[in-house]
Amino acid sequence: NQPEVAFKRVMLKISGEALMGDLGYGLHPPTVERIAREVQSVHNLGVEICMVIGGGNIFRGLQGSAQGMERTTADYMGMLATVMNALAMQSALEGLGVFTRVVSAIPMDQVCEPYIRRRAVRHLEKKRVCIFAAGTGNPYFTTDTAATLRASEMRCEAIFKGTKVDGVYDKDPVKFSDAKRYDRVTYDEVLQKHLGVMDASAIALARDNNLPIIVFSLDEPGGFKGILAGQGTYTTVH
Ligand code: UDP
Repeated sequence: NQPEVAFKRVMLKISGEALMGDLGYGLHPPTVERIAREVQSVHNLGVEICMVIGGGNIFRGLQGSAQGMERTTADYMGMLATVMNALAMQSALEGLGVFTRVVSAIPMDQVCEPYIRRRAVRHLEKKRVCIFAAGTGNPYFTTDTAATLRASEMRCEAIFKGTKVDGVYDKDPVKFSDAKRYDRVTYDEVLQKHLGVMDASAIALARDNNLPIIVFSLDEPGGFKGILAGQGTYTTVH
């Protein structure tokens, strides 16, 4: 008894930190595999899956520049970090028998394909998971913006943002026990109240393209599949 899903094509955005487990830095292969199984269970429903993975478990441009590095160089290092994460996820997914392509905003032909929109669409049509690496290819952006951009280009019906918490709260639920979770919240409210779902450019881009963002917990086993069927707790940014 598979859950009914209303989605044909979705974007899954996860941070790099989601792949590090309890390590505090870098990649934890069993954690990568656990998330790959979550993706596989949704793939098995016939949903076309785009993925963007951040790089914060390895390198963040802002942190590098705070320590004296030139900002754009540091950002390129951050983008390269996302390629490593994408390759790790590709390896885990293909280990489970899910055909996966990594396409990079920065061409590196020996490592993965360059991003060419029509080719990426073709991968999705052929039911390959498509991981969009190297962010937008531009410094001063984040992978949240990259996820929103690629989701728009691929005509995804929604962005699923997997996080540590099961939605958007009015304040940090880890620090405040009386934090309140929104069921639904508008893009403008997220921007005005600085709700920290995604950075402002990503939220504005999603708003301008009418792309709902569904924030849910990645720590919940079976969570991604459940959320696609409208089960469990989550917040819709619309
Ligand atoms: N980055 C960038 N342009 C992009 C996407 C990412 O310059 O379009 C760099 C930026 O330095 C960022 C790093 O890559 O800090 C890692 O991405 P992000 O911080 O979004 O990763 P996450 O927090 O999701 O793990």
